[in-house]
Amino acid sequence: MEQKTLAREYDLNSKQAYLNLFFEHAEDAIAVFDMEDRVIAVNPAFEKLYGWTKEEAIGNALPLIPPIHLKGAKTRCARLREGKSYTFFETQDMRKDGTVFDAQISLSPILNPHGEIIASSVISRDISYIKENENLIVQSEKMKLVGELAAGVAHEIRNPMTVISGFVQMMNEDASSPYYEYTKLIQTETERIDLILAEFLVLSRPQVKQFTPINLAEILAEVTQLFQFEFQQKSITLKMINPYKNTIIMGNENQIKQVFINLIKNAIEAISEKGTIKLEMCKSSDEKSIYITIKDTGCGIPPHVLERVFEPFYTTKSKGTGLGMMIINKVIQDHQGTIKIKSKQNMGTEILLSFPVEQH
Ligand code: ADP
Ligand code: MG
Repeated sequence: MEQKTLAREYDLNSKQAYLNLFFEHAEDAIAVFDMEDRVIAVNPAFEKLYGWTKEEAIGNALPLIPPIHLKGAKTRCARLREGKSYTFFETQDMRKDGTVFDAQISLSPILNPHGEIIASSVISRDISYIKENENLIVQSEKMKLVGELAAGVAHEIRNPMTVISGFVQMMNEDASSPYYEYTKLIQTETERIDLILAEFLVLSRPQVKQFTPINLAEILAEVTQLFQFEFQQKSITLKMINPYKNTIIMGNENQIKQVFINLIKNAIEAISEKGTIKLEMCKSSDEKSIYITIKDTGCGIPPHVLERVFEPFYTTKSKGTGLGMMIINKVIQDHQGTIKIKSKQNMGTEILLSFPVEQH
């Protein structure tokens, strides 16, 4: 009899010990809450993920949910108290320092032997990196598709388009024609198609790497020259700071030009009237990279647009193609460069590019 009790106690203890081990060493953050949402227990993974120590957490109701998700969380809490559980629910949680991360959480009620809910458990993990990867994959698949489409479509459409615009232009010469209004419209629209095709063609040019030495300062001077008229028309001041006269990068000259054309065009379009566009060059301390910033005092990019600027066909402009930034991104990737965007609504946008410098 005594033997039996002992054995059972041993059994219980080891079960407790295993549970403890599981709790302490689990990779997922685990927390147990009482009915007033105060913390009863947290494991080390929780402390690490959320930034609250066990001492800070226990006995307190912690702000673990970012304000925008509070409403949803309240509903879930209420359902939890009715006995419902949630598994692998994707949401966003908040760390002690206020940063938000993508989380996958499982919520379950904890019942006493009478079936009454006395607490709840939350198991969560940070899935930001998965989300990021998912986005990257979707993005790169889209890019590949666009590249392939571009190659085919642009070439096929260019030829018939040339014929159409040629004849429309001819018809347009007669301003007294009864169809003048229509042909005029056809012409502007064909010009728009041409613009899209021109952007596509940058991508569809044979991608055999024909990289030649490029002097960045010269390219910038050439490209900015193209926009003199727009600068004047909109009273935009162009400031060139520190153009290293002799910085050479290896690249495809046309594509690099296109990058700066697209960036400056966007900067001009962001400024409604009077403003500054600043172009600045600087080198990394080891002189292995060159940085170029293009800063405008335009309308800025709101966060929901910023997330999508590299998507093909994403535009906020009535006459935009939504291809400019996508092309920039692709060309920069092909050149082992990087691009970063900082923007504040109504203040302006700063775009930071880097390219590896050709070492002599
Ligand atoms: P498009 O210029 O044809 O709209 P882009 O790919 O060049 O396409 O840009 C996508 C979107 O990114 C624009 O519609 C605009 O909303 C935003 N954007 C890009 N650059 C800037 C900038 N410098 N200032 C404000 N918004 C910008
Ligand atoms: Mg653009």
